[in-house]
Amino acid sequence: MRVRVIGAGVVGLTSALRLAQAGHDVDVVAGKVGDSTTSALAAALWYPYRAYPEADVTRWSSLTYATLCGLAADPSTGVRLRLGRELFRSPAPDPWWRDAVPELGRPTDERLPAGYLDGYELTVPVVDMAVHLPWLLGRLTEAGVAVRGGQVDDLAGAFAGVDAVVNCTGLGARKLLGDGSLTPVRGQVVVVAQVGLSEWLLDQTDPGRLTYIVPRSDTVLLGGTADEGDEDLTVRPGTAAGILDRCAALVPALRGARVLRHRVGLRPGRPRVRLEAEVVERGPVVHCYGHGGAGVTLSYGCADEVAELVSGLS
Ligand SMILES: Cc1cc2nc3c(=O)[nH]c(=O)nc-3n(C[C@H](O)[C@H](O)[C@H](O)COP(=O)(O)OP(=O)(O)OC[C@H]3O[C@@H](n4cnc5c(N)ncnc54)[C@H](O)[C@@H]3O)c2cc1C
Repeated sequence: MRVRVIGAGVVGLTSALRLAQAGHDVDVVAGKVGDSTTSALAAALWYPYRAYPEADVTRWSSLTYATLCGLAADPSTGVRLRLGRELFRSPAPDPWWRDAVPELGRPTDERLPAGYLDGYELTVPVVDMAVHLPWLLGRLTEAGVAVRGGQVDDLAGAFAGVDAVVNCTGLGARKLLGDGSLTPVRGQVVVVAQVGLSEWLLDQTDPGRLTYIVPRSDTVLLGGTADEGDEDLTVRPGTAAGILDRCAALVPALRGARVLRHRVGLRPGRPRVRLEAEVVERGPVVHCYGHGGAGVTLSYGCADEVAELVSGLS
């Protein structure tokens, strides 16, 4: 089939790749490509976070985990497996997504910072999006998939010259489809120069003081915030100072780390990820959007299902 994917974030690009690999004739059109997408600023830690429903998210996360572990064998993909810990101030049960990972341990007391009583300890893929998005674009070029810039204002217009459309517009589906169930969830992060860290840390016990430290090769990404309904894309200096303080309290080596960049993005929050086929006036559409705080974590698993749904149309 001739298929047009709308959107060039991680969801659109992985979907386009899986569609091309399934033998479809694919192109991609997107308002933003690469560094200016929300996907580009993700911490890109594999972690199911603010995405629903739980059963589907566990399945997609598990599939993505396996795919990213495979990609980690090749450094040019930007994917790396890293040990890390989520920290709790009181004893915590296993997470609802426990089945998505092969192993999940509990840190010994000496691996818990002061004030913490419990944790999860696990190895997960961490994706350097500054490397992985260009890598995906390279794979698409090799597969003959053209990626071009352009805003789609109405879905019907996207059918010109193709048999089916795949809608991977993230938060953009609010305007494109009038989907009022999408909510922006503002995230602010600080990128600092590496200070010799290899392990990630996460503390989400107090949503107002969300803290995460995600090392990449030359940089460390520090977060964060998750402000529902807040669409302000300007960097707030007070928020950045709070992030730096909380992260340095957990990992003192970060105090005084060289700040390279401040970034703000809007997670496409939705009560449930929309992954389904629908037939509209001009033809079939497969929707895949609303991945909340886990678009990278769900990407390849969802892309597999997008390709299956499209192949099932023919
Ligand atoms: C601070 C922060 C940290 C995060 N950390 C993580 C993390 O550690 N792990 C994780 O898994 N996830 C994380 N996320 C979430 C993740 O970034 C998102 O879930 C993911 O980027 C969603 O991908 P997407 O492709 O759906 O959307 P986007 O990356 O927003 O891409 C949408 C694409 O659709 C295009 N588009 C939209 N509307 C139209 C239109 N009408 N016409 C043409 N093109 C259109 C856009 O231009 C863009 O190309 C984080 C997010 C933030 C903000």
